[in-house]
Amino acid sequence: PPLIACRGVGKRWETAGGTVTALDGIDLLVDRREFVVFLGPSGCGKSTLLYLIAGLEQLTSGTISSGGAEVTGPGTDRGLIFQESSLFPWMSVGENVTFGLKLRGMGTDERRSLAADLLRKVGLADAADKRPDQLSGGMRQRAAMARALALRPEVLLLDEPFAALDVQTRSKMQDFLIEVWRESGASMLFVTHHIDEAVGLADRVVVFTARPGRIKSIVPVDLPRP
Ligand code: ADP
Ligand code: ADP
Repeated sequence: PPLIACRGVGKRWETAGGTVTALDGIDLLVDRREFVVFLGPSGCGKSTLLYLIAGLEQLTSGTISSGGAEVTGPGTDRGLIFQESSLFPWMSVGENVTFGLKLRGMGTDERRSLAADLLRKVGLADAADKRPDQLSGGMRQRAAMARALALRPEVLLLDEPFAALDVQTRSKMQDFLIEVWRESGASMLFVTHHIDEAVGLADRVVVFTARPGRIKSIVPVDLPRP
């Protein structure tokens, strides 16, 4: 069975200027371990679909399921990574990475060793006691990945995570994300408006049309990855 199933998904926003149909009739199945990229111009509904799958917004029509269970809100099966790092600035990087596990009652020693492990995996072995503002933008996004992975999600939902980075850093982060993907065994749903990024990362690219957002085509990619 697919990991994520979107069937007949629609989303309308009620705004002061009237009703905006952001998504209409979205049907999409995502397999376990699959890397799927949402591609399309600004405003076509890519982020809206990602946040619906995340359970952070309510659907107007249709259904979304994750692992066979209907999505009714956020869950640890779906990890989120945003454009700007959303690390808590007042916590150390290590505390940020294991914050979700602290909420679940995991003790300090266990958290510290898990944070060290995860930070090593993302190339930030020496950063556990630093504050987020002592890291570069690319390092903060790697710490955000470590934090998302700490809860062992089945899928990572990434909303233009490298948009704020310079071109060289972005390219390194793409290679890096491929490694994270392979090692974690998670599926990836990645939003971008850069076609090079989409083609470089995806198993399949979902191309959106704008207003109302519909799936224009789903393009399989068969290029060698790093
Ligand atoms: P994309 O991620 O492809 O740039 P979005 O999903 O952000 O597109 O937006 C899709 C459409 O929904 C746009 O027309 C946008 O203005 C509108 N929209 C997004 N979020 C909201 C919101 N919270 N309230 C009202 N309209 C919104
Ligand atoms: P807590 O209040 O979360 O139990 P402590 O007060 O024991 O944590 O933290 C002491 C030191 O250990 C601080 O310097 C903090 O940055 C660091 N630390 C705490 N939790 C972690 C973690 N999960 N990973 C890495 N370092 C941590």
